[in-house]
Amino acid sequence: MSLITMRAAILDEPGKPMTIRDVQIREPRHGEVLIRTASVGICGTDLHFARGLFPYPMPTILGHEAAGTVERTGPGVTAVQPGDRVLVCDQMPCGQCGPCLTGKMVYCSDTSARQRQHDRLYLDGAPIRQYIGVSALAELMLVDQSGVIPMTGGISFNARPPGSPAPAPSSRPTPKNTAARRPHPSARPAPSIPPTATSPNPSAKPPADAAPTSPSKPSATPPWRPPPSRPSRRPARPSSLA
Ligand SMILES: [Zn+2]
Ligand SMILES: [Zn+2]
Repeated sequence: MSLITMRAAILDEPGKPMTIRDVQIREPRHGEVLIRTASVGICGTDLHFARGLFPYPMPTILGHEAAGTVERTGPGVTAVQPGDRVLVCDQMPCGQCGPCLTGKMVYCSDTSARQRQHDRLYLDGAPIRQYIGVSALAELMLVDQSGVIPMTGGISFNARPPGSPAPAPSSRPTPKNTAARRPHPSARPAPSIPPTATSPNPSAKPPADAAPTSPSKPSATPPWRPPPSRPSRRPARPSSLA
């Protein structure tokens, strides 16, 4: 089995800070897609797991609301090809079981996707459990093709929802794309993936990052401030991970 070394944010224990360390991710097998992470949101669900409100095998790598560029595809993948920009979803329905065929994908009865979470990531030579099929706080993600959604049009990895506050002006130029690619002081180059027989299709589209290239102008919008704290609510059930 061929493994690729990358950096990721490891959560060893609920309630403790995550640490950036080397981990290994395996190459994609049938129906799987390897994605270079570009953007990751921090969801309340992640925080519930980080605090231990929902038990999960540790260590693991949190993050499940992500976008990136397809790096490599396994056999049988037809939905995307290397170079495609995609969103990643933690719901990966099989599309073939009874609930899926009746349009209730969220109730997919295929448990094999959960099994695949057990052998995708390795830390210090031992397998660690992938977090709900994604583990996005890492340089690379390995997911089922049913969990990727192509990003069409000119949507940027840096896009924000209408009405959301503009980022505060910065005196430093904004790196193109991602925190995951931002060089760490102790960093080495991003993990290089050796070519194989299933390596990228020569006709594959190049990464088409639609991030604006013009120099950013300082915005007149005042810097964003966190909203006033709200009364705490009961966490959502683990089955509604979104
Ligand atoms: Zn299904
Ligand atoms: Zn979420």
